[in-house]
Amino acid sequence: MVINNFSSLKDVMRSARCDAILITCIENIRYLTGFTGSSGVLLITDNGGIFFTDSRYTEQAGKEVKGKVKIREYKKQVPELSAAVIGARLKKVGFEDSDLTFQVYQALKKELKGVKLAPLKDRLTLLRGVKSKGELRLISGAVDIAYKAFEKLLPSVKPGKREDDLAVELEYLMRKGGAEGLSFDVIVASGGRSALPHGRAGDRLLKMGDPVVIDFGARYKGYHSDETITLFIGKASERLARIYHTVKEAHDRAIDVVRPGVRFSDIDKAARWFIKKAGYGDYFGHGTGHGVGLNVHEGPSISPNSKGVAEEGMVFTIEPGIYIPKAGGVRIEDMVVVTKNGCRVLTRIPKEMTII
Ligand code: ZN
Ligand code: ZN
Repeated sequence: MVINNFSSLKDVMRSARCDAILITCIENIRYLTGFTGSSGVLLITDNGGIFFTDSRYTEQAGKEVKGKVKIREYKKQVPELSAAVIGARLKKVGFEDSDLTFQVYQALKKELKGVKLAPLKDRLTLLRGVKSKGELRLISGAVDIAYKAFEKLLPSVKPGKREDDLAVELEYLMRKGGAEGLSFDVIVASGGRSALPHGRAGDRLLKMGDPVVIDFGARYKGYHSDETITLFIGKASERLARIYHTVKEAHDRAIDVVRPGVRFSDIDKAARWFIKKAGYGDYFGHGTGHGVGLNVHEGPSISPNSKGVAEEGMVFTIEPGIYIPKAGGVRIEDMVVVTKNGCRVLTRIPKEMTII
């Protein structure tokens, strides 16, 4: 965090052949400067950074923004930003094409005649892949809040309970336990609805024999957790028990191959191959995992088409699932951090098959 990775920003500039970069993604701004507000733009040149924000955030920026960054308050974002770019005689400015809106892009283009705007693709986001010790502490903080909340929720997971009520209770327990927010709306999908990979909690009542997929996460000081548990109410059919054991084995196998240097696509393959071999290949439609940090879904992605390899300090999920339409689904999700020789599971709820 904070602009001590200024040298890596220079690498980004060099590889994109730009003499400046314009950072608009608020999580990237937080990562690079420490600013926790929700509005601002960061312009990085060879000489340091200028953080532009409006009057609501000037004072906060003054307290939070660290490193070689000047703070400037603007009234009209685009004209004042453009004036700074022209004043610094910049020729080519890299921008975050996955974040900058088309509207702002067009306005900038109009103002910045003679300046080239170049898409940075995922160059900046990749900087955030490897987590520092400080970031790992915050991620563990989020994981802990979610874990404790889930433990408290468990006695309420029983027949007759509404999915919606469980989701609200879990949200309350996480907030009460110190979460500043949620990673996303809590997913509680029971019975046949568990076959919807991202089924939102609804008004269905839990019944005996139901699988219940609960996917949730807490946000703590900007960082997220993400974990999925599949429980069974009272009993599990033979078919669903077999599916559970298949997903669990796929999950374990993927975790087993995680170490520095392993290709993301090979982590995915470890889980996918096992599910396919068990005959469920057509029922595992999503990737095996994703990075977690200042965003709950960020790079790297762990899927068949992923490029790149794991590095020590990266944090991502391993979350295979099998979803049989109408019959039900199972997903098991843990977060891991890549260590020197392998990985460590960060999430704390045991993933053995549980019938409650
Ligand atoms: Zn999840
Ligand atoms: Zn996830």
